[in-house]
Amino acid sequence: MPNAYFTIQRPSNDAFRGYLPGSQERASLKAELARQSQTVVKIPLIIGGKEIYTNTTISVTMPHDHQHVIAECCMAGEKELRMAIDAALAAKNDWEEMPWEHRSAIFLKAAESITGFYRDTLNAATMLGQSKTAYQAEIDIAELADFLRFGVWSAQEIFRDQPASSAGVWNRQDYRPLDGFICAISPFNFTSIGGNLPTAPAIVGNVALWKPSRTAVLSNYYYMKLLMDCGLPAGVINFVPCSGSDMSRYVISHPKMAGFHFTGSTGVFQSVWKQVGENIASYANYPRLVGETGGKDFIFAHNTADIEPLVAGIVRGAFEYQGQKCSACSRAFIPASIWPQVKTRLQEQTASLKVGDVQEFDTFMGAVIDKASFETCKGYIDRAHASDSCEFIAGGTYDDSKGWFIAPTIIRCLDPHYESMVQEIFGPIVSIYVYDDAALDETLAICDTASPYALTGAIFAQDRQAIVKMEKALRHAAGNFYINDKCTGAVVGQQPFGGARASGTNDKAGTSLNIIRWVSAHTVKESFCPSSAVAYPYMAEK
Ligand code: NAD
Repeated sequence: MPNAYFTIQRPSNDAFRGYLPGSQERASLKAELARQSQTVVKIPLIIGGKEIYTNTTISVTMPHDHQHVIAECCMAGEKELRMAIDAALAAKNDWEEMPWEHRSAIFLKAAESITGFYRDTLNAATMLGQSKTAYQAEIDIAELADFLRFGVWSAQEIFRDQPASSAGVWNRQDYRPLDGFICAISPFNFTSIGGNLPTAPAIVGNVALWKPSRTAVLSNYYYMKLLMDCGLPAGVINFVPCSGSDMSRYVISHPKMAGFHFTGSTGVFQSVWKQVGENIASYANYPRLVGETGGKDFIFAHNTADIEPLVAGIVRGAFEYQGQKCSACSRAFIPASIWPQVKTRLQEQTASLKVGDVQEFDTFMGAVIDKASFETCKGYIDRAHASDSCEFIAGGTYDDSKGWFIAPTIIRCLDPHYESMVQEIFGPIVSIYVYDDAALDETLAICDTASPYALTGAIFAQDRQAIVKMEKALRHAAGNFYINDKCTGAVVGQQPFGGARASGTNDKAGTSLNIIRWVSAHTVKESFCPSSAVAYPYMAEK
């Protein structure tokens, strides 16, 4: 519980660095990129504060140069996962009992380190390991610091919410951490999400096991080291790269798993939910399940839309970070009357994008994350080439000779239910359905129902009545909705992020809606003048 004398002010978002030509920050980041690309880091597990090296390792390579190894990562097996559970449970009591302001200080110090001493390290590792450009890595790392600052502040706001008390009585709500440990499993696409999944529960006194994605493990390891440097006690977060199946078998099924914090694909989250359901009688508590999952994010244009912002929204939304943001635009609906202009400008803008090595600062797009992702994108492109109902507006090519490169691709689909219009691809491929201007209502209904997801969506229009109609029609089609803006780029504390339907539990990362899932309220009533009577006054006969 917070001490009433110590309060934290509402934080502001971290200011991004621009990395402009000739700037000192650009020179410093380039030097760190050169250093990291000439190094092979040996990544241990971190269990109970100790580095543990195992014999099973995987090689970490750059997606844009897939023969270039930058790390060898140790993998946990059954023995290490059991050790990690023991280490977490051993650390639990002291962590839970640590005064709130001291726990918070560790995370606030970590936020300063992210944006200070560790900034170049984390940015370079994110660029090289996950194939992000300098700008995409910068906004990712800034978000990690935001998650910590807003997380600590949100916890304070939750703790402040106390019940009413009547005369002679004091009621208190004690927001306890969950009774067990948290299992955090993170995706490859944001270093910030990786970092946030174990730390959000830890802010309110929980202990965790953290399984990072094998394709984001370098940046995630540096973040784990940073937390330890900032004074996170041993065992509070245990860093255990391992296979998903080992995590399921030894950790998710453990009776003391009290919460599951996940971001990744819908299929994995649903399989874990099912496993928890099958094991439900064996848990000490009902585990809290929080998952942010897949998307099929859209841009829907009205015939009054301004063309240039619409085109920029599609190009940035679909191709930044190779379409591998959960919020990336992967389908668009364009009215026939403006399609000729939109098509021309999309082709011109897409042709100007440089695809290549993210260490070259004029690059707009790097490579997709790995061979599996490359094959998925290639499959969609090959099938669209073979389909009579698809026309390539841009791209449609790929090259895996050096890196996992997919050209920024725009497919016009005559069928709004064609596979690339409704399935998540998670690559730089956007599908467009051109609709008859008179069929606005029917096309809004297709956008709402054709895909099972509901993560992000944007509308572009100038006519206010059209905006009202479109917003209403698509109210449940997205957890994050944009009017005349692209569907990516949510900022912590400004556009709380998360989706519903098959896109997740919509617990809005970085807000009190998420943090509150990691506490279990304990209500205490204290009577100052307790009654000694047994009989009630109404029982008197006269
Ligand atoms: P993924 O589901 O393949 O992997 C996510 C994590 O789950 C990884 O650590 C992986 O090793 C692990 N995993 C895989 N199989 C498992 C199993 N059987 N049991 C336990 N863990 C298992 O996802 P990804 O490719 O890393 O990330 C891309 C996906 O994440 C996309 O679907 C994207 O939409 C989604 N995503 C969603 C959000 C959001 O906020 N909604 C944010 C980022 C990413």
